[in-house]
Amino acid sequence: MEVSRSPHGLGAREIRDRVRRGELKAEEVARSLLGRIHATEPALHAYLYMDDEAVLDRARGLDLRVARGEDPGPLAGVPVAIKDNLCVRGTPTTAGSRILSAPGAGFRPPYDAGVVERLLGAGAIPLGKTNLDEFAMGSSCENSAFGPTRNPWDRTRIPGGSSGGSAAAVAARSAVVALGSDTGGSIRQPAAMCGVLGLKPTYGRVSRYGLLAFASSLDQVGPFARSAEDAALVLGAIAGHDPRDATSADVPVPDYLEAVRRGVAGLRLGVPREYFAVSVEPEVERAVRSALAVLEAAGARLQEVSLPHTPFGIPCYYIVATAEASSNLARYDGVHYGRRTPGARTLLDLYERSRSEGFGDEVKRRILLGTYVLSAGYYDAYYLRALKARTLIRRDFARAFEEVDALVAPTSPFTAFRLGDKVDDPLAMYACDVLTVTVNLAGLPGLSLPCGRDGSGLPIGLQVMGPPFEEGRLLAVAGAYQAATTHHLEAPAVGDTA
Ligand code: GLN
Repeated sequence: MEVSRSPHGLGAREIRDRVRRGELKAEEVARSLLGRIHATEPALHAYLYMDDEAVLDRARGLDLRVARGEDPGPLAGVPVAIKDNLCVRGTPTTAGSRILSAPGAGFRPPYDAGVVERLLGAGAIPLGKTNLDEFAMGSSCENSAFGPTRNPWDRTRIPGGSSGGSAAAVAARSAVVALGSDTGGSIRQPAAMCGVLGLKPTYGRVSRYGLLAFASSLDQVGPFARSAEDAALVLGAIAGHDPRDATSADVPVPDYLEAVRRGVAGLRLGVPREYFAVSVEPEVERAVRSALAVLEAAGARLQEVSLPHTPFGIPCYYIVATAEASSNLARYDGVHYGRRTPGARTLLDLYERSRSEGFGDEVKRRILLGTYVLSAGYYDAYYLRALKARTLIRRDFARAFEEVDALVAPTSPFTAFRLGDKVDDPLAMYACDVLTVTVNLAGLPGLSLPCGRDGSGLPIGLQVMGPPFEEGRLLAVAGAYQAATTHHLEAPAVGDTA
């Protein structure tokens, strides 16, 4: 399908440039996006919350600032979708869970997340809150208490997870850019499944203040976009130190837009053997290898490397992440936030009933697992060993980055599977993350960008991983690839012909 040049088909860079010059009204852009959302939502269910009037109000406010000659900011008029585990003041924030969304008693945060504050300061227009696996736990969006999002390329398939709503919206042009969070792959994997670019920044690069915590030593917020340039724009706006997040790094934010145009001449790209050893679908491997050839033709030097502890990634991640989740989710007790089961007789009864009714199966499974691996007698055997494996994984990367500048591999071993295919098999679902969790365990930046489609027309993702705080280098690789190819311009047919 050819995307028309109505504002919803434009990129963030073009929107902001035209809005800043007064050639395009932010209100016109917002109306176009709202129209697009209403046309696509019946098929996709990417959004959990929308408020058209609030969107238009903010857009008109921005147009007034432009008319007054004020600087409207680097994201002036750019419509952005926000994953529903990020706090937006006064707006229902559910994390895809019943526990935060009891009718009439839903959680409406009294403050904005650090990243939301920065987006607003940059002139962006938040469109609404997007669907996700409950508390970001999942790889298919099917763990949302509100029903799954569908993949815009094939509605019988998953959009990936947990940030499935954000990825699907950007792919379907019902958002120009979006925010997601990535604890073990939740930005990169849905980006791969939906054929968009997703970037998980270095741990500490972007503030986690106001992100509903899943696993605090792994969680990071990052952008979805169609082009490297747009991802660079959003990252530039949200990155930087925030004293309200103790793990936020005080590291200067470079010019990411400049990085996109840097090219890859002379860049050493490592191809980790182990990332092709897991059963990667042949069509995925073929697309990734031909993407590597494109990068080589653009001047990069390819070299095989080894990350020998990769096979420990999944067990290590599912111990560390569940341990941290069991602690983080203790706060949802029926007293502080959201749902409180009526009729409880004792405090314990209230906790028990609110949590039993409020949490879905996968969240309960993780709380049980996490409590188990932290319990006396099992702590050393599981949690401590997982921390040791984490150190080995981190060292693998450090060693590789002595030889190469970045690593390139598939994002996911397979393309989008069918809704329902893995919901009853938690281990099969966990295995989806085999190529993404290692980056989180090592605290590194990782990016996924579309590099082709399989025989069924489903998008394939190329993953680029780098040393800490080298997001610019990843964007340079993405920029060079997109300059030489057109995969990122392909759009699914949704909401047009239906
Ligand atoms: N799919 C992984 C999980 O279920 C990663 C989720 C995420 O990154 N939030 O934990």
